[in-house]
Amino acid sequence: MNAFKRRDFLKLTGAAAALSAAGCASLGTKARVVVVGGGFGGATAAKYLRLWDPAIEVVLVERQESFVSCPISNLVLGGYSSMRDIEVGYDGLRAHGVRVVRDEAVAVDAGKKLLRLARGGDLSYDRLIVSPGIDFNFGEIQGYEAAMGAGRVLHAWKAGEQTVALRRQLQDMRDGGVYILSIPAAPYRCPPGPYERASVIAAYFKQSKPRSKVLVLDANPDVTSKGGLFKAAWKDLYPGILEYRGNAKAIGVEAATATVKLEVEDVKGDVLNVLPPQRAGDLAVKAGLITHNNRWCDVDWRSMESKKVPGVHVLGDATLSAPGMPKSGSMANNHAKIAAAAIIEQLSGRQPQPLQIINTCYSFVSEKEAIRVSSVHQWDAAQGTLVAIKGSGGVSAARSEPEAVYAWNWAKTIWADSLG
Ligand SMILES: Cc1cc2nc3c(=O)[nH]c(=O)nc-3n(C[C@H](O)[C@H](O)[C@H](O)COP(=O)(O)OP(=O)(O)OC[C@H]3O[C@@H](n4cnc5c(N)ncnc54)[C@H](O)[C@@H]3O)c2cc1C
Repeated sequence: MNAFKRRDFLKLTGAAAALSAAGCASLGTKARVVVVGGGFGGATAAKYLRLWDPAIEVVLVERQESFVSCPISNLVLGGYSSMRDIEVGYDGLRAHGVRVVRDEAVAVDAGKKLLRLARGGDLSYDRLIVSPGIDFNFGEIQGYEAAMGAGRVLHAWKAGEQTVALRRQLQDMRDGGVYILSIPAAPYRCPPGPYERASVIAAYFKQSKPRSKVLVLDANPDVTSKGGLFKAAWKDLYPGILEYRGNAKAIGVEAATATVKLEVEDVKGDVLNVLPPQRAGDLAVKAGLITHNNRWCDVDWRSMESKKVPGVHVLGDATLSAPGMPKSGSMANNHAKIAAAAIIEQLSGRQPQPLQIINTCYSFVSEKEAIRVSSVHQWDAAQGTLVAIKGSGGVSAARSEPEAVYAWNWAKTIWADSLG
């Protein structure tokens, strides 16, 4: 799906005739689609809209100078990759004719079809795509923001400066120290991501600080993804280094004593990496797109259009996930293709057709071995959502070095597909 060619996509969706008719600049007037967020969802949507219908003007609003990938960022924490490896600029999108505006989107007036930018001025749109990723409910962990302000706790759950800071803390930690990784209750961004992080940091300790410990405090009762494979790797590779505790929800952080407070006990560490509970990115809140638990945005999975605000499509982690669907870069990239195809249909007065999409997610369990999970999701008219097709997916038989090669190839392919 990631190295996806348009021809293959159309074959898969059965929407070839409709799309090619819309794709020959036959819309009459040139429509403008504004996309907020140049991550896996937004960048892919911007690119594919231009590829599939060059008559559409596409404006991408992104606050950052370049894209920094969360996939592979755990290898940076272990010292097995560098920030340079996970950064991609936006020139690839510019070459497709996407206008990239570096700014912060702060409000949406859906009635007037206007997006307000922080530096002033409004952007008008015919269709708006919002792919803002996640933001954090810091307030659910007492003392978090003060401790983060003091540099005593980090999440590093958006790749960037916190990734660099956490790597530095791990390097500075004494041999014999304890690194605590606290995981929030699902749903959160990238279900296997925390377990990958624990594994890669355990590999670093094994090589460089063998008296140190990784302590995983998981609010969930058990490992939420690829559990058998992760636990086998921990038992074989990191005995005495990695300890896992389920049902261990963080409710507070105390900077002065480097303590994570759980419901039943307090745990002290040297490096505190506490992942706060998550929700759709701030713009989704400001634009009134949130529909569930004050956290996520429900969408029509045939078009990714918001169920609350017409004309606005929501992609990626910000969505209320369909059953069995993870919050992953792979899924955000696929959501983007659903939205791009649907918008071309809608701008031409046709109904979007439901599509089948595929998730693949690799996790490193050491610097040289990885594991994988995949699933296929299709529209179920009776349930009115995408559902995972039974028997279509699965996990690796065992961890292996070839899977690590595939993991790197997956990353390079999705970066190229989304931004190249
Ligand atoms: C450690 C880790 C490892 C992971 N590994 C994998 C993996 O192996 N495979 C996988 O598939 N997924 C993985 N993921 C998950 C993946 O990173 C996310 O699911 C994916 O980034 C979601 O894409 P998105 O478009 O929703 O959000 P993002 O990619 O976060 O993009 C959001 C973008 O919007 C911008 N933005 C937000 N608000 C505004 C605003 N108001 N104005 C302007 N710009 C704005 C942000 O700057 C950002 O660039 C991992 C995540 C983590 C944390």
